[in-house]
Amino acid sequence: MMFDAVIVGAGLAGATAARLLAESGKRVLVVEKHRHVAGHCHDYANEYGITIHTYGPHIFHTNDAGVWDFLNRFTEFRFYQHRVLSYAEGRFFPFPINADTINQVFNVSIGVDEVAGFLERQVAASAFEDPPANFRDAVVSQVGERLYGLFFENYSRKQWERDPGLLSADLAKRIPVRASRDDRYFSDRYQGIPSRGYTRMVESILCHPGISVMLGADWFELREGLEAELTVFTGELDRFFDFEEGKLEYRSLDLVLKTFDEERHQAAAVVNYPNDYGWTRVTEYKAFLGESSPRTTLCFEYPRSEGEPYYIVPTAENAARRAAYMERAAALEASGRYVFAGRLAECAYFNMDQVVRSTMDKIARHGVN
Ligand SMILES: Cc1cc2nc3c(=O)[nH]c(=O)nc-3n(C[C@H](O)[C@H](O)[C@H](O)COP(=O)(O)OP(=O)(O)OC[C@H]3O[C@@H](n4cnc5c(N)ncnc54)[C@H](O)[C@@H]3O)c2cc1C
Repeated sequence: MMFDAVIVGAGLAGATAARLLAESGKRVLVVEKHRHVAGHCHDYANEYGITIHTYGPHIFHTNDAGVWDFLNRFTEFRFYQHRVLSYAEGRFFPFPINADTINQVFNVSIGVDEVAGFLERQVAASAFEDPPANFRDAVVSQVGERLYGLFFENYSRKQWERDPGLLSADLAKRIPVRASRDDRYFSDRYQGIPSRGYTRMVESILCHPGISVMLGADWFELREGLEAELTVFTGELDRFFDFEEGKLEYRSLDLVLKTFDEERHQAAAVVNYPNDYGWTRVTEYKAFLGESSPRTTLCFEYPRSEGEPYYIVPTAENAARRAAYMERAAALEASGRYVFAGRLAECAYFNMDQVVRSTMDKIARHGVN
């Protein structure tokens, strides 16, 4: 075997691991089942010159200076601060909830210092179990029933096809509420979109004389011939263990692209549709890189139960299965011959920066910095 390390998957986790290992002098083979690199953050320019994110909209944001510095070695980031509107009851509201959202929904005019008190009164007038044991109660305990009903209840039903009362309360940790007029979706210190796209960024991470990439190759079909000192696995955790602890349940998405003969179609890059229509949100892609074209391409997202694994379903059964697989993965990692990194292999809802951070830390434990 001419390689010291085999990396399964050429997404952000695989590329980060490959680069760090190659820079430490290892000969690395990356095996990717798709015919493209970059995994879920893959993008390409369509016939109108508009950059499309193949697996749905990706906005980079982080507070982690180490991750930011690492990625800036491979790309410049275009200044981009993400803003989202939510369409409800025939109007567009700034989202996540901030002072302006409250003023518009309740037809009041409170100042930023009154947001906390206003929400407290909304919560006090609402019914929920305390401490909250599910997603519904966790959101109501933060914003009250009116805002929950307007923005979260039906969105979650569409997204997960489940009663929000059956979803984990942990999911509500991702819901930012702002006691300010800051209408940015993320408030992280570093935000942006790779100026030549995510695919070019990942290609650039993989561009090192110590790295070879094999595309269109499923590791499970080749593994016998690919023994190495170290295997970094970034694919599906349950498949690695032959589904012996049961199949992990994921939600998928149908992403439907539509091009319109107009310069801009909607007032924000992303508009959420919690209550109306079958889609959950619509993204106008040209907004991310400020691309100009007489046409505009939009992506309509329809949640599905079958297809590419996108989001791990946040139920107790899934959490128990995940824990069983993670225990087995940790035992293999302790042998020093395996690393399980990334959103599929760690089975966690990681953003891109968390994927890079987790991979950096795991590879560093192998004595590589
Ligand atoms: C709709 C959506 C929107 C998102 N938006 C954002 C966002 O705005 N900001 C953000 O920070 N993050 C976002 N994310 C998360 C982001 O996509 C991930 O954190 C990141 O891309 C995961 O990288 P990864 O390398 O862990 O996994 P992946 O990108 O899934 O890469 C894993 C790779 O392994 C390959 N693979 C799997 N099994 C095998 C095998 N057997 N053999 C060979 N290859 C294999 C796969 O084909 C894939 O290329 C979003 C995710 C989704 C689904």
